[in-house]
Amino acid sequence: MSTSPSVGSLATDLAVIGAGPAGLYAAYYGGFRGLRVAVLDSLEEPGGQVSALYPEKPIYDIAGFPSIRGRDLVQALVRQAEPFCPQYVLGEQVVDLEHHGDGMTLRTSAGMTVRCRAVVLTAGIGTFTPRPLPAGEEFLGRGLMYFVPSLEKLAGQHVLIVGGGDSAFDWALALENLARSVTLVHRRAAFRAHQHTVDQVLRSSVRIVTPAQVRHIRGNGHIEQVDLQHTGGGVETLDVQTVVAALGFTADLGPMTGWGLDIQERHIVVDTRMGTGLPGVYAAGDVTEYPGKVRLISVGFGEAATAVNNAVAWLDPEADLFPGHSSDVAPLPV
Ligand SMILES: Cc1cc2nc3c(=O)[nH]c(=O)nc-3n(C[C@H](O)[C@H](O)[C@H](O)COP(=O)(O)OP(=O)(O)OC[C@H]3O[C@@H](n4cnc5c(N)ncnc54)[C@H](O)[C@@H]3O)c2cc1C
Repeated sequence: MSTSPSVGSLATDLAVIGAGPAGLYAAYYGGFRGLRVAVLDSLEEPGGQVSALYPEKPIYDIAGFPSIRGRDLVQALVRQAEPFCPQYVLGEQVVDLEHHGDGMTLRTSAGMTVRCRAVVLTAGIGTFTPRPLPAGEEFLGRGLMYFVPSLEKLAGQHVLIVGGGDSAFDWALALENLARSVTLVHRRAAFRAHQHTVDQVLRSSVRIVTPAQVRHIRGNGHIEQVDLQHTGGGVETLDVQTVVAALGFTADLGPMTGWGLDIQERHIVVDTRMGTGLPGVYAAGDVTEYPGKVRLISVGFGEAATAVNNAVAWLDPEADLFPGHSSDVAPLPV
């Protein structure tokens, strides 16, 4: 996966805003249609909701896969687009879209500019911002994380997971046999996670501490110790190297609301071409709105193909809308 430096500029044909399933599939289709593609996302990792909220869960309704783990689906989508070398700009929110004579310029929160000729908005439910842990924010990237990009990197570590929802419990299970120890702390004794997952964790070696909260994180550079404040009184100190704060995310279309799009209840209205009404700007996936819209990954895949092929036909009126069959072209390196 080729990522770009966070400052500077980039010129491309198609900019895809959002690296969730729809955006990753749009990257494949853009490449298949011979376009240079840049994929931008405010999260540090591709995968959108799947990576941020349920990477370890099996998904049962992806066509052709009776069951596929979220993380594996994202990896497969990245691999599928890889032969076309999309440029990934991760960890940066797109804050501005400006039209000019021969295309558009996007600006990111880190000051990068991306010049492009067409845009596909695959922004899902908007920019994901993790709910911050009240204590220890200064250890972000030095032991504190809001989601787990690579389970393997936590092998052999003492891990503390904070939260009582599905993500917290999924990560507890996923790390149980990999980490040296897993402790899950939640400020309430009741959990929001599915009872089935809670039961699995209760049967596992994961230690659950409730009701309690993280009071203080200590370390010399990297996390070494965490103080837990028990609600009933008393402070317990744990030796841990990693704290996973799974407190949920807020999502917000944010800057997109000022780009002149037709937005209805936090979604972008599109036509049958997935056109947004702005020249050269298409949309796909959860972010779109039209009568009968169904918000599922499989629907987003179809919309991404429609959006990109219509973008191609808009960029070059001589080009066919229909891309041809992928099965008719020479095999690509995978
Ligand atoms: C717990 C859970 C389980 C689910 N299970 C299923 C299931 O079994 N089957 C199914 O089909 N669906 C399921 N879904 C729904 C599915 O995850 C979504 O339909 C899918 O993720 C939508 O994909 P997307 O690419 O449209 O958007 P998203 O996955 O939401 O990705 C959008 C991306 O855009 C980025 N973004 C937004 N605005 C900006 C900006 N301005 N600049 C940069 N980046 C931006 C966001 O950071 C995000 O990464 C589930 C959802 C949840 C929460």
